[in-house]
This record gives sequence, structure tokens and C-alpha cells, in this order.
Amino acid sequence: MTDRRNDLTAWDRDHFFHPSTHMGAHARGELPARTIATGEGVYITDTQGKRSLDAFAGLYCVNVGYGRRQIADAIAAQASNLAYYHAYAGHGTEASVTLAKMIIDRAPKSMSRVYFGLSGSDANETNIKLIWYYNNVLGRPEKKKIISRWRGYHGSGIMTGSLTGLEAFQKAFDLPRSPILHTQAPYYFRREDRSMSEEQFSADCAEKLEALILAEGPDTIAAFIGEPVLGTGGIVPPPSGYWSAIQAVLRKYDILLVADEVITGFGRLGTMFGSDHYGMEPDLITIAKGLTSAYAPLSGSIVSESMWQVLVQGSDEMGPIGHGWTYSAHPICAAAGVANLELIDELGLVGNARTTGAYFRKALKEALGDHAHVGDVRGDGMIAAIELVEDRDDRRFFDASRKVGPAIAAAMLERGVIARAMPQGDIIGFAPPLCLTEDEAATIVSVTADAVKAVLG
Ligand code: PLP
Repeated sequence: MTDRRNDLTAWDRDHFFHPSTHMGAHARGELPARTIATGEGVYITDTQGKRSLDAFAGLYCVNVGYGRRQIADAIAAQASNLAYYHAYAGHGTEASVTLAKMIIDRAPKSMSRVYFGLSGSDANETNIKLIWYYNNVLGRPEKKKIISRWRGYHGSGIMTGSLTGLEAFQKAFDLPRSPILHTQAPYYFRREDRSMSEEQFSADCAEKLEALILAEGPDTIAAFIGEPVLGTGGIVPPPSGYWSAIQAVLRKYDILLVADEVITGFGRLGTMFGSDHYGMEPDLITIAKGLTSAYAPLSGSIVSESMWQVLVQGSDEMGPIGHGWTYSAHPICAAAGVANLELIDELGLVGNARTTGAYFRKALKEALGDHAHVGDVRGDGMIAAIELVEDRDDRRFFDASRKVGPAIAAAMLERGVIARAMPQGDIIGFAPPLCLTEDEAATIVSVTADAVKAVLG
């Protein structure tokens, strides 16, 4: 009998086109490939039997941890009772209607409706269309440009890849596309003028945003999109006063705010939503990952009541909205979402993200804060990062060709812990499942310290 594991490896190299992967290196077998077989709690196990503590919860998404029977049972029951029905023309299922209600019960109080999609990317595509539709209904056809931030991550579709302000997601794809613009990232550690305080830097971000709006013409700017905590761009919490300074500018020029809470929604910051955490008052909120803890693909655009009123006016004037996916509000995914949100409440995971997250970040700082090559240890709730530098005093970064971040992530993996080398800069990111215990947090910290020592001394 052939060894099935060997077949899998060959099939993987020959036929599987992986996202965000060096295509040639993978196909030629130069990259270590890993086929994952099972997951339990914060651990995953591959087909070779190697077990790893997943300190990135997949892609910051398996928030309740792996192997939750309650969600698996809900998915199985929905699949056998009603695997599918669409949501067009006012149709729904018990699961999708219940989930919409549960989301609005948890969302900031100005929000009133949820449009369901399947990924964070398609939810942000929906947001862009809703913003354009909104301004057309209001008779403002010129007000269409959307401002994002450099280092923002909002997906990798054509428009959402344009919103994303990371080189790798745009280079050679002819992105960004009009009418997307970018402004300064709220990245305090990387600020150009190092004499600035956090408040001064926040004011500087707001001034740069206002200058861009004035240069383009306020009547052409429809919306601003931002993650409460910059995620894939480096895991960077906002500097003090950032969101209030930005929102003051947006209000002045009647510009909508989209809070992209694909990472922060449903507990990651130790609060149900990042918007509440940082005092943001968005018109739209993007949700995905934590909505089902990735047990099934589901996303959403949460719409504020005031925006909803304008959308309703649009369909009163023009008929049914011409937007929808076959799998919008898919009942199996919605059933996973209902069970997931129930579990988050039952296990008190939002509170655990706050308390164990604080313990984890403190331990990370104590273990690595004084290391000669660790320039910054940052985070909030259950998300954190360390940023490596060649020289701390000069804040001189390593040459990217040295691949210091990937080397540390690889050294951690050898020691049994998965962290993520973030795509731009030598940054090691952590976003463990929200059910992390203090013991597990301590394991992540000691493995990180060992790996940093092994790579950088
Ligand atoms: N928005 C944010 C903040 C994200 O972090 C991501 C993915 O990491 C997305 C949008 C895109 O989501 P998806 O990969 O499900 O399309």
C-alpha cells in the first residue's frame, strides 16, 4: 500500500496553489510544507504527528480554540436540517436571522443591520459599494474617494487590495486602483520625528489626513477606513488620542468612518468590539474571523441606523438593491456563528482576552523588553507584537534581506510554538485563541525568548 502521507506531499507540491506563498519555492520543495490534521484547544497537530501551540489562532481567527464540540454539532445539525437556502428577496433561515439579532445586540448601539458575506475581503467590497450607493442616493455623485492608511490591511480583492496599504499585496497587480487614497499609518514606533509624543503624533496623523482631504477636495471624499488596531501591517495599537483626532476631521468634512473589525470584533481586545474600546463611532463595521472563530467562512458589514435610512430611501427610489452573493448568510455558517457567540459568552472569553492577554503582554515585556535587538513590545488585549531592530538607540532596522523576523518565527516553530513573521518589517506577531491560559502564555513567552536568543544572541 502506498504511504498516503507521501502522496499528500506530492499532491500538495504539484496541484495546490497556496495563497500568500512563494509559488516556485513551494512547488520545487524548497519551502517546508505542512499539512495539518487535527486541532484541540490552542494546539494543532500535523500529519507527521508534530504538535504546535498556535499562538496566532490560525490567522487571528480561531478565537474559541480548536475542537469545540458545541460548534461542530451546530454545523452538523444545520447541514442535515437545511444545508442551504438563499437570503435574496427577504428570505432567511432561523440561524441567519438569529445571528443578525445576536450581532446587533453586541455591536455599538448606533448599529442596526447586518449584511452577510463570506470573507473579510468581500465584506469590505460590500462596504465600498454601500458607500458609493449612499452618496448617489444623497445626490453627491462626486463624493466617492476612500482614504485608507499605509500598512492598513482590508483584504486582497481588486478594491480591497487597493485599500490594503502593503507593498506585497499591490506590486505587479496594478493596484491601488482609483479612487482609493492612502494616508500616514498611526505607527508611533516608526514615526519620523522621534521627539514627538504620542499625542503629538496623533495630531500629526490628523493634520496629514486633513491636508489630503483639502488637496483632493472634501466634496470628493466619501469615507475613511481603518482597523482599530493596525493588524497585518505590524500589529500596532493606536497612539493615544488617535481616533478622537481622526474622527474630528472626518466629522468636519462629512466623511463616513468604516471600522474594519475583522480581527478586533468579538473580543480580541478584551471588549466585544474595538470601536467601543477606542471610542470610535463608525458608520460601518466589517466583521469576519471571530464571528465564527473560523469554524465556517462568514463575514458581515454592520450598518448604522443613520446610514440604513439612506439605503432604504435608495431602494424606495430605485427598487431592490443590486448586490448579493449566492452564499450570503449561508445557514451552516450562520449556525456556526450562533454557537460560537454563545460559547464566547459561556466561557467568558472576552474577559479572558483582557486578563490573560494583559498577563501575556506583561510577561513578554519582562522577558524581552530589555533585549538589545528588541525595539518595541506592544499590543492590547490578546494581540501583541515584538519588533526587532539592529540598533535600539538609533532605532535602526535590519536589512530586509536578512529575514530576521522569519528566522525567529522558524526557530519558534522548531520549539513548538507558532507565531507570525509579519509581512512588512521584522515583527513577530501573536494573536492566540482567546481561551489561552496563563501557563500557555508562559510557554509562548519562554519559547519566544529562546528563539530570539538563538537567532540574535
Ligand atoms: N480586514 C482585516 C482587518 C483583516 O485582517 C483581514 C484578513 O486578515 C481582512 C480584512 C480580509 O479578510 P479575508 O482574508 O477573510 O478576506
